[in-house]
Formats: sequence, structure tokens, C-alpha cells
Amino acid sequence: MRDTNERAVQAMREFLEALGIDLAARGMEKTPERVAKMYASLFDGLGHDTKSLWGELFHTGADGLVAVRHIPFYSMCEHHLVPFFGEVNVVYLPNQGQVAGFGKFVKLVECLAHQPQLQERLTAQIAHAIANDLGARGVMTVVTAQQLCMTMRDSRAHGTQTVTSECTGVFASDRDLCQQAWSLLEGAGRYDSNA
Ligand code: ZN
Repeated sequence: MRDTNERAVQAMREFLEALGIDLAARGMEKTPERVAKMYASLFDGLGHDTKSLWGELFHTGADGLVAVRHIPFYSMCEHHLVPFFGEVNVVYLPNQGQVAGFGKFVKLVECLAHQPQLQERLTAQIAHAIANDLGARGVMTVVTAQQLCMTMRDSRAHGTQTVTSECTGVFASDRDLCQQAWSLLEGAGRYDSNA
């Protein structure tokens, strides 16, 4: 079990008290400790080298595109420390049929989402990790999310979706391949609308 980070507990206690919250009066004495533990787990992707996530790679002998769609994620906006969440869709062109297990992409997303983040950077980091760690010839990543720091403050923003994408390698240079990759992801969109 993770040790309690006393410094974080103390800082959270002071933070809440500075906002005028009387912890004892509200029965919130244990809240600073809970928050410190919660944030330690929300930020446990910090300092991880994504290269160590993939485990054994497999040679398929196939040349086709590989897509992993609808990977859910929860992350924290680094400007306000409020959640943003949604799903990640990935398409990649393996290098000489070298692929990773599908479940590893879920782990990659979780690792990169579990740190103070921006959606744009998360999107790029996922694409570049797959390109660099697997040697993929091209990667397309599309992330759709809701940003609570926007929607909680302004009710007019309710339902606003933010979409970011990143392309590497052949998807950035070859229009046909790029189109094929988008087609796989459009399938993802249709699946959403029927859900
Ligand atoms: Zn924010």
C-alpha cells in the first residue's frame, strides 16, 4: 500500500482551510488525507517510461492497419486540476507486422492520462509513444473529451466536445493511407451514435 504523503496531507488541509472550510465543523477531518491519496493515484503515471509497458511484441506477418477504438480515459487538466475525460481512438501501421497486445494500448492511455495533462499533449504523447516504442510506420490518434473546467463553469458549454488528433509517419505523408485510417475511425463515430 502506498504510504501517506504527510506533506501533501498538510498542504491540502491548509488549502481547504484557506478557502474558509472548517474541516472539523463539517466532519471533513479525514478529507485532506483522502484527497492526498486520491491525487497520488490520479498522478501515478508521472515519471513512467512508456517503453516498459508493452511486454512481448508479436510478429503477425500481416501488413494491414490496426485500430484500437473507444479506449476510455480520465485525466486532469493541468491548468485547473479538474477532470477531463472521454475516449481515445488509435490507428497504426505496424513496422513489418510487429504489433503489441491490444490491452497494452489501454495501459499506455492510462499511464499518460494519469498526470497533470492537456488534451492536445495527451493526444500527441500517445501517438509518439506508439511510433517510438513500437517503431510503427504511422500512427493516428483521435481523442474526444469533455472538459469539466469549461462545462462546470458555464452551463452554455454543456455537452461541448473537444476533439484533438495527431498523425505521425506515413499517415502524415500518404493521403490514401491517411484516408483509410480516418475511415476506420469514422466507423468509431457511427458506433457512438447508435450507442
Ligand atoms: Zn482546465
